Amino acid sequence: FGGGRSDKDIVPSKGKPPVTSESVVNLDHGDPTLYEEFWHGTGDRATIVIPGWQTMSYFSDLGGFCWFVEPGFEREVRRLHRLVGNAVVDGYYFLAGTGSTQLFQAALYALSPAEDGTPMSVVSPAPYYSSYPSVTNFLNSALYRWDGDANMFNGDTCIELVCSPNNPDGGIRKAVIKSNSGKTIHDFAYNWPQYTPITEAASHDIMLFTVSKCTGHAGTRLGWALVKDMEVAQKMIKFMELNTIGVSKDSQLRAAKILKAVCDGYELSPASEANRLFHFAQRKMAERWSKLRATVAASGIFSLPNEVSDYCTFAKEKVTANPPFAWLRCHKDGLDDLEAFLRGNKIITRGGPKFGVDEKVVRVSMLDTDEAFNMFIGRIASLK
Ligand code: PMP
Repeated sequence: FGGGRSDKDIVPSKGKPPVTSESVVNLDHGDPTLYEEFWHGTGDRATIVIPGWQTMSYFSDLGGFCWFVEPGFEREVRRLHRLVGNAVVDGYYFLAGTGSTQLFQAALYALSPAEDGTPMSVVSPAPYYSSYPSVTNFLNSALYRWDGDANMFNGDTCIELVCSPNNPDGGIRKAVIKSNSGKTIHDFAYNWPQYTPITEAASHDIMLFTVSKCTGHAGTRLGWALVKDMEVAQKMIKFMELNTIGVSKDSQLRAAKILKAVCDGYELSPASEANRLFHFAQRKMAERWSKLRATVAASGIFSLPNEVSDYCTFAKEKVTANPPFAWLRCHKDGLDDLEAFLRGNKIITRGGPKFGVDEKVVRVSMLDTDEAFNMFIGRIASLK
């Protein structure tokens, strides 16, 4: 051991390469690098140090409802929901997951009848988040299978995925399938004040959230679920045990510190934007949306969904929604495939067919760096 080893410090990877005037702008993924600027400004308030001897055991909380949940993480999440008012937490079971992506799969497992023999249909109204079909089907499970657009569903029971605000088009959604014996999964990845006016404390059966889109810490790979029914929550825990024997404690501790910094920023510090994450992100998003709307209005070939606003119980004023993605449609004569047209102009986006709709519309991330976003604006401004 040790021969020839260097004792250089471990430095984190840099992520995506920076954009230059010649490079392709990749706005395919919702990589939330917009938030780095805020966290650069928080200093040690969001830093965590984990000594070599800590977080070694598999177990976090053997006396609690879920043995792999770090109590500090659960406490800060509940505190955050009470601060923001976007979801009811009292009376809900709390689970952590490796991103909300893992919890989504745990929820499918928990809601599918075990011994029925036919796979349960999983649906969501088009345009739906492009990962829903692929994540549902990639293991070819006998328990559940993707069945497409919820508005076209005519079977007896199904699991409906309700994403609100919706990825990709920002729509505010309610379940569309009636008399569905409560088999809905509410994906609230974007139900935060920087994206949408908060109008109610939601209280659905299964509600999924993620730090990825709340604070921008996608690399921490941490999500959480609020689950009303104890048996469903227990089945989800079972999935997590079989799938990954729990969830990284290191990630939960880091996320707890990050969420604590967010809550402290509102509850303890003097009110300045440097401490208030949602105000910082809301301002950035609003600036981007007004630039994009002006560019699209001047283009003559593109359009966007209409702007919506509502009274926000968190901001205590009427605010305009700033969706995390632009759902950009093109009306240029003779153009069929917008994703290909934009790729030819060095802009990578995700085309409508991946969301269950046509090729004349694409999804564009609004969460990337200023450099990438401004490059995108400059490029679409020049398209005729
Ligand atoms: N749901 C929606 C609607 C999303 O857009 C995303 C991320 N793109 C996720 C869930 C998954 O997030 P994560 O696994 O990073 O928590």
